[in-house]
Amino acid sequence: MNALPAWLTDSRLSEDIEPLLRQTDDESLERLAAEAQAVTLRRFGRIISLYAPLYLSNFCSSGCVYCGFASDRTSPRRKLEFDEIERELRAMKKIGIGDVLLLTGERTNAAGFDYLRRSVELTARIMPRVAIEAFPMSVAEYRALAECGCTGLTIYQETYDPENYAKLHRWGPKQDFLERLETPERAITGGIRSVGIGALLGLSEPIGEALAVARHARHLCRTYWKAGVSVSFPRIRPQEGSFQPAYVVNDRFLARMIMAFRTAMPDIDLVLSTRESSNFRDGMAGLGITRMSIASRTTVGGYVEAETAGASQFEVSDDRSAEEFCAALRAKNLEPVFKNWDAAYNNPLPEKERA
Ligand code: SF4
Repeated sequence: MNALPAWLTDSRLSEDIEPLLRQTDDESLERLAAEAQAVTLRRFGRIISLYAPLYLSNFCSSGCVYCGFASDRTSPRRKLEFDEIERELRAMKKIGIGDVLLLTGERTNAAGFDYLRRSVELTARIMPRVAIEAFPMSVAEYRALAECGCTGLTIYQETYDPENYAKLHRWGPKQDFLERLETPERAITGGIRSVGIGALLGLSEPIGEALAVARHARHLCRTYWKAGVSVSFPRIRPQEGSFQPAYVVNDRFLARMIMAFRTAMPDIDLVLSTRESSNFRDGMAGLGITRMSIASRTTVGGYVEAETAGASQFEVSDDRSAEEFCAALRAKNLEPVFKNWDAAYNNPLPEKERA
C-alpha cells in the first residue's frame, strides 16, 4: 500500500475532540449536551432536514464481512429496471420525500457506471435533490454524474484502521483502503457539491475511529472549503451473515461522540439514520444531529413492495412512518424539512443571463 496521507495521523486535527470522548462521567455529558444543543440552535435553528435511501441494486463483487449484500450471501440478487425506479420514486414522493440517496453495491456488469448515471438522470427529473452511495469512481465519472444532477456523495471508510480494514474486506475492489479514503476528494474535484463520511462503528476501537473521522472531516473542510461536508454515525446492525462486531458502541458513547463533533465542528451536518432506535433518534434530534433519514427501506424495491422485497443490507431499527416521525420531531419543537435544495441550483444561469 502507498503511504497513508499525513492528515490521517495528525493529532492536531482532533486534539479538541479527544478529551471530550475520553470523559465518562455524567456531569461532563450533561455539560456537553447543553453546549451541543446551544450550538445546533445557533447554527441550524430548529430545522431537521430529511432524506430517504433508495436501493437500486444488491449485486456486489466485494466480500465485506459485515454486509448482507456481500457476494457470498445466498439471497437472490436484483436490480431495479428504470420503470421500477420511477415507481419507487413516485411512491417516495407520495410520502413527501424530496431528497433521495441512491445506493448500489460495488461496481458489477449488472449495475455499473452507466446504469448509475441513467438512474441519477431519471431521479433528478423527479426529485429536487439526488445523492449517491455507491462504488468509488474516477474524477471524470463524478463529473458526469454532477452534470446529470447529482449533488451529493456518501462514502463511509468503514474503518480507518488499515490492518483491520484488510481483514474485514475479504475480496473485491473494496479491499483498496487508499482508493476509498481518497474518494471524497475525487468527487469534490469532479463537481459533487457535498460529501458525507463516517466509520461503521463497532468494527474497530471506537475512540480511535472517532478521532480519525474528525481528522478526515477537518481535512476536507480545510482543503475544499467550498464543498459541504457531513458526518454520519452508523453502528453495525444485524444482517444476513450474522457478523458480530468486535466492539460494542453503546448509546452513551455514541451520544457523546455526536455532541463532541457538534461542538468542535459547528457548521457541518451531522446525520443519523434509521439504523438507530426511535428513542435514540428522538433524543439526538436537535442535540447535534441536523439531518436524518426517514421511512427507510433497505431492500431493493422496498417502497412499492414493502412486504415482498428480498434481503436487506441491514435491519432498520426505527421503522416509523414519515408522518409518525415528523409528529415526533414537531413534539420536540423541531421542524422537519423535506426539501431544502432546488434542482434549479444545480445549473444556475450564467452571470450575463441572470442580469
Ligand atoms: S458494503 Fe458495499 S461493497 Fe461491501 S459487500 Fe456490502 S454492498 Fe458490497
